[in-house]
This record gives sequence, C-alpha cells and structure tokens, in this order.
Amino acid sequence: MSDFKERAEALDSADTLAALRELFTLDDTVYLDGNSLGALPRHVPARMQDVIARQWGSLRIRSWDESGWWSAPERIGDRIAPLVGAAAGRIVVGDSTSVNVFKAVVAATRLAGDGRDEILVDATTFPTDGYIAGSAARMTGHRVVPVAPADVPAALGPRTAAVLLNHVDFRTGRLHDLPGLTAAVHEAGALAVWDLCHSAGALPVGLDAHGVDLAVGCTYKYLNGGPGSPAFLYVAERHQAAFDSPLPGWTSHADPFGMTPGYVPADGSVRGRVGTPDILSMLALEASLDVWEGVSVEAVRAKSLALTDFFLECVAAYVPEGRVTPVTPAAHAERGSQVSLRCEDADETEAVMSALIERGVVGDLRRPDVLRFGFTPLYVGFADAERAARILAEVLEV
Ligand SMILES: *Cc1c(COP(=O)(O)O)cnc(C)c1O
Repeated sequence: MSDFKERAEALDSADTLAALRELFTLDDTVYLDGNSLGALPRHVPARMQDVIARQWGSLRIRSWDESGWWSAPERIGDRIAPLVGAAAGRIVVGDSTSVNVFKAVVAATRLAGDGRDEILVDATTFPTDGYIAGSAARMTGHRVVPVAPADVPAALGPRTAAVLLNHVDFRTGRLHDLPGLTAAVHEAGALAVWDLCHSAGALPVGLDAHGVDLAVGCTYKYLNGGPGSPAFLYVAERHQAAFDSPLPGWTSHADPFGMTPGYVPADGSVRGRVGTPDILSMLALEASLDVWEGVSVEAVRAKSLALTDFFLECVAAYVPEGRVTPVTPAAHAERGSQVSLRCEDADETEAVMSALIERGVVGDLRRPDVLRFGFTPLYVGFADAERAARILAEVLEV
C-alpha cells in the first residue's frame, strides 16, 4: 500500500499541471464528479460580483453593448473552439445541450436532403439525446434506428440522413472512434452529429480535422462553467451557409433590431442562436474558461490517462477480489476521462457510493450497478486517485 502512496507522490511532483489545482475552490474531499459538475474556479465569484453589481446594477441596458453581452455567445464559442479543435467562427454558446441536440439533428436532416429517411442514434446514448432525436424524427418524417456505435458502419446506407453519437459513453466511460465513424458516415453520404458532453475539456476532439458536420456539448462538466451553464453548438464551415435552424429566433436574424416580419438568417455561427442569451450563466462560463489559459488539451489528455491508469491499478491492488469489475476499457484509445466500476452485488451500489461520499470521496452512480469516478486533470491529482481507491477498498471490506 505504501508503495502506491510513494508512487502517487512522485507522480504528483512530476505533474506539470499540478499548479492549476490552486486556481480552484476545493476542500479535503477527493472530488471525482467533475464529469457531472466541474469545480468552481476561485476568481469567478469576484467576476460575477462585477457582472451583477456594475454591468447589470449600474450600466443596465448599456451593457448589451458596452459590456459585450450581445456578442457573448460567439465570443465564448471562440474560446471553446481551440479546446475541441475548431477554428474561430464555428461555435456558438447558448441553450441547453438538449436544445442544441434538437437544432443539430433537425438541421442535419435538412442538410442531408430528400430521399433519406433514417436517423441512426447511439443505442447507448445519454437519454435526452434519444428522446430529442425521437421527437425530431417524428416532426421531420424520419425514422430513428438505435444502433450501438460499433455497429454504425454496418447500419449505414442510402437511407441514412444523419447519425447522432456520444463521443464518450456517460455510463461506461468508453471513448468512441470519432475519426473512423465520421469517415464511415460520410462514405454513406450522411451527416455525423457528435455529442461532446464527456469529451470537451477532457481530451482532444479535432472537430475540424476529422470533418465532423455538427456537434454539441455541455460546459458544466469538464469545462467548469457552473450549474446549468449554457451548452455549445458547432457547425462545420462548409455547412454554415445552408444550416437551417429549426428554432430561428430573432437573435439569429441578420438584422435582429430591424424587427422585420420576414426571417433572414445571419451568417456564420450566429445562425445557431435562438433567443436572448442567459447572460449571468454565460459570463460565469466565460470567466471560468480563464483557467485554460496556456493549457494544452494534449497535456490534459496525457494526465487523464495516467490518472485513470493509476486509479485502475490501485483498485486492482486494494479492492478485495470479485467485488467490483471495471467496465471502462483498458485500452487508451477507448477510454474517456472517467472510470466506471460495476458492483458485482448490484444491491450494494447505492450504499457503497453513500459510504464513499461520507468519507470524502465524491463520485456518483448510474443505476443499477455502476459506480462512476470522473478524473478532471485540472484539479485532480494522483494522491486523490490513491486515496479514492484505498477508501473504496475499506468500504468494500466491511
Ligand atoms: C450531460 C449530458 C447531457 C445533458 O444535457 P442537458 O440538456 O444539459 O441537461 C446531454 N447529453 C450527454 C451525452 C450528456 O453527457
């Protein structure tokens, strides 16, 4: 056991990202739930105090212009862009991920054109994506075909309009092959829509490089934007001129203050906007993105893999045989930034997670039997991984 503690210490002192931890408000708990709600960067409360007291309190309506409120959705989109491999002008921030899934799926079917009547949907998707795609399909006269990501190439055909996939499986932490699947979708003449909720801020995505058509993602997980912070929508440059939003709100109009009865879409990412942006959440997200200044996603990915490798090793060494089984793939190419462990006795899952939280190790669970531990490399260290595994073993020993 002390061997792992020593290794954790050595790994932490060699960690080039270790100093970033100081940028966050943390306490003694080992916080392994940043894949659900990222931690608070320390400087955000003071920035929000300014937004509320000065921008809202003093400047009031003038802030739409003078404080840059109006252009915040595109400006913040451009700050997220390099984290997911997109050039400026392709991402707009606003609305929830669910709403952006709707925009993206409907827009994808419109871009795909007539004669294609199927939408393939990741059979293991986070539920909201499936619900929304189902409704979008009913509205547009398409049929949803649930397909496991690995089976997508075989399910593609001349009827496929669009394919909606999760980049990382929220339950198992499995990373899907975005470049390979996107290429297969294109070969069939369809559009690839990716949900990046569990990869944005955790690993390189390469949206432009891999020719992804449309993508959505949330900002309150690995991007630490705060509870309910607005999501983002990516539209590839080649699709922007034809992108036809199913929610053409007035803020996506070419001349929003012309207040004309006819809808004329704006150019570029603005076209993905709907109504008045939720400025307070949006500016909290903008402030929180400061922690990424000078941080490379490649370095974050390297640390993430080292952390999850180390945690898996500690779990294998500490936890009594036969109590938990990793469901997260061992292969790096197939692993996101979380480790999911299946409890062999499903009935004890909830009690195990409660006991962990009681002892200061915060993860979460997905019913019926999966314990989830998210590793956010900006503020989680190797000693945290060791401690989490040790306490898990203690909980399972009783
Ligand atoms: C977290 C998550 C969502 C959340 O959607 P909201 O509209 O923000 O509630 C959607 N899809 C995936 C894959 C997620 O992981």
